[in-house]
Amino acid sequence: MDYFPLFIKLKNQPCLVVGAGEIAARKIELLGRAGARITVVAEQFRESVLAMQDTLGLIPRQKSFSPNDVTGMRLVVSATNCRTTNELVAASAETQRIPVNVVDNPDLCSFIFPAIVDRSPLIAAISSGGVSPVLARMLRAKIESMIPARYGRLAQFAEDFRLLVKQSIQEPARRRIFWENMLQGRVAELVFADNTEAAGRLLEASLHDAEQQPNKGEVYLIGAGPGDPDLMTFRALRLLQQADVVVYDRLVSAGILEMARRDAEKIYVGKQRSNHSLPQESINELLAKLALSGKRVARLKGGDPFIFGRGGEEIETLMQQGIDFQVVPGITAAAGCASYAGIPLTHRDHAQSCTFVTGHLKDGNINLNWKQLAAPNQTIVIYMGLVGLTNICHALIENGCPSDHPIAVVQQGTTPNQRVLTGTLQDMPQRVEHEDIKPPTLIIVGTVVSLHEKLNWFKTAQASAG
Ligand code: SAH
Repeated sequence: MDYFPLFIKLKNQPCLVVGAGEIAARKIELLGRAGARITVVAEQFRESVLAMQDTLGLIPRQKSFSPNDVTGMRLVVSATNCRTTNELVAASAETQRIPVNVVDNPDLCSFIFPAIVDRSPLIAAISSGGVSPVLARMLRAKIESMIPARYGRLAQFAEDFRLLVKQSIQEPARRRIFWENMLQGRVAELVFADNTEAAGRLLEASLHDAEQQPNKGEVYLIGAGPGDPDLMTFRALRLLQQADVVVYDRLVSAGILEMARRDAEKIYVGKQRSNHSLPQESINELLAKLALSGKRVARLKGGDPFIFGRGGEEIETLMQQGIDFQVVPGITAAAGCASYAGIPLTHRDHAQSCTFVTGHLKDGNINLNWKQLAAPNQTIVIYMGLVGLTNICHALIENGCPSDHPIAVVQQGTTPNQRVLTGTLQDMPQRVEHEDIKPPTLIIVGTVVSLHEKLNWFKTAQASAG
């Protein structure tokens, strides 16, 4: 961090602004909003600045700046267009260790003004450290549009009930859950609609319920998509950010994990193909145990939880034990990889159906209905198929697929490491042996693969460099 963010109390504090032009006026207004007692030193005053004597009670001093002017000030801002004056102001403030800002002159500043989103008492301050004020302002605009105008009122409302809630729910973790529910549900809506009275009644009723009931945990079975964090759903993100514990496996990318709450406990239960680091039953039990201890548990799974994800088994255990849960669908690898590889899974001229199968070997065999899969005009997507690739290609050819039938292997689809190998059932096993393919990989079989060359739109860093 080049600058440390702080919020400083300026109510009734003496602040000095040097200069009384348009830019100075903006800074004066800003300081005025924080209740500062502002002295303005300038040789010439704009009308609009003089008018602020009445509105902000500022004290104009028509004179040239002298170093003594900074004495006793809490903050100093220099907004003149004279470099010598600006330098003198900065040096005078610096001598007395008073924070100083020289507008548009980062070298002379000991503090900088952030872009502000004001929902008092809630305030967001954004800074690019002076590197790109435009970027900071764009981010502010984004946040402005995301936060309802009445958000500040919600903060005020929370303040009004803070003590009562604190007395009623002593345990901090439970209290946080209570507040999270209040501040984003019906109560919040009532506050936004200006009906604080009803909101208050509802909060008190919920508080009463919370006191009666023991703390109930919950499991969110979340499909995190195939890798690109942008492909998560809004619900996945929201639940992930309120979970106390995150239980995740190998397919969940680092970028997705980063979106969890910083203080959430993160438990890895990843499975490697031949190395089950935690058996499925233990995962089921772990989820139940965590939820029963009152935690909100995000069970993060790659892709969609109900597609080769054993999500069904996990929630069966929860159901048996009467634990609350929600399931959040995710973009499955087939959809993600196909899109990012420019291979439509169905196409009027190529495939009227698409089948998802697992290529996982059981005792060296893959039990699939090969006759059906070898029929024309369809697309086959094979999950977990890399190890069995040779068997798969042979079986398809044996059951009637042409040996030059197109096949694609997509490595780490939707991520910056995505690679797409295309070939035929005949040559793909050998090609894959010569390439350094990294898991996870998805296999797509069908004439739709021929569209890849034309529709390939996703350029990874690797591909662009190569
Ligand atoms: N529930 C997941 C699938 C889990 S099975 C989903 O809906 O996507 C694990 C298999 O998914 C991997 O062996 C691989 O075949 C496939 N897979 C998952 N993510 C992938 C990715 N980003 N790129 C390629 N294949 C992926």
